[in-house]
Amino acid sequence: MFQLNNILRENIKKLVPYSSARDEYKGKVGIFLDANENSFGFPVSYDGTSNLNRYPDPLQLSVKEKLSKIKGLPIENIFLGNGSDEAIDILFRAFCNPGKDNIIVCPPTYGMYEVSANINDVEVVKVPLIEETFQLDEASILKSINANTKLIFICCPNNPTGNGVAWNTIKKVRDNFNGIVVIDEAYINFASYRSLIPELLNYPNLVILQTLSKAWGLAGLRVGMAFASEPIIAIFNKIKPPYNINVVSQELVLKALDNMKQVNDWIETIVEEREKFGLELNQLSFVKKVYKSEANFILVKVEDASALYYYLAQNQIVVRDRSKVVLCDDCLRITIGTKEENRQLISILKKYKNG
Ligand SMILES: *Cc1c(COP(=O)(O)O)cnc(C)c1O
Repeated sequence: MFQLNNILRENIKKLVPYSSARDEYKGKVGIFLDANENSFGFPVSYDGTSNLNRYPDPLQLSVKEKLSKIKGLPIENIFLGNGSDEAIDILFRAFCNPGKDNIIVCPPTYGMYEVSANINDVEVVKVPLIEETFQLDEASILKSINANTKLIFICCPNNPTGNGVAWNTIKKVRDNFNGIVVIDEAYINFASYRSLIPELLNYPNLVILQTLSKAWGLAGLRVGMAFASEPIIAIFNKIKPPYNINVVSQELVLKALDNMKQVNDWIETIVEEREKFGLELNQLSFVKKVYKSEANFILVKVEDASALYYYLAQNQIVVRDRSKVVLCDDCLRITIGTKEENRQLISILKKYKNG
């Protein structure tokens, strides 16, 4: 049975969180002299409405209210971080005892899980995906779980392979593990299936990560989301730096969330372009395999990945060389750009080896 208290670190159970000035006083007030801010103003012109001289809302309630409607989840089930990378790091600090606990990741996958584990001195148990299909190796995952396994990371759609993960397998792992299953849905907006958010309220051992960095086009603002049970979100809020999302990011995210139509139009175009680009890639003689993608990028196996990488770089096009990554020999990961960018890329690819 999953019991939050059994997996929470002792120091976090006992932690008295920092109480910020803005946490303590909630009423309406005209004169703020509680946080040692500069009451005169800020020395830069700024078109927004935020008072840059004031600390931001520590719990980002206005943003969460809007997100709550979009995601169909109460505010108490939502955490906002300085990118989802902050949520990943907090998971380690909340649940993994350095030098003692371990986590399971399924490479090839997003690199930050392992980096965060290493920073926190937490052992990484690797259960590689099944070759070619890139599905989870369910039996090996279940066998690898031991008493010190606290987190299992499942990236879905997966980066860098682009595929979705079979729902049955996720269910099996979720139901046979007493730690936390982290589902990273950074690319969910581009997938042909839905988010697992509706499962959250029935399963206290799920944490779902999403981000505004990909489909939402706000990578520069650094805002990621974690969705989980109320007690888990309360732990996240206790651990995070008090003012982790700055006022400008909060203000702009609030406005951006009103432009969902624009974002949905982009998603539609990106998915169309992805399918078209996949077909084009398949026509090229040096392309060995185009992996099916549910994300905004395509993984492609070619004859000599580093040679092709340098050829593209010489032509001012940067893609991601994943050829040194396990199961990704000779693979490049290519983000779907604008129609014009994709057209240029294809035309440059067509000249490769024919030129
Ligand atoms: C890009 C990406 C993220 C997002 O990270 P942010 O810190 O929110 O920008 C998370 N997970 C995966 C798998 C990603 O590829």
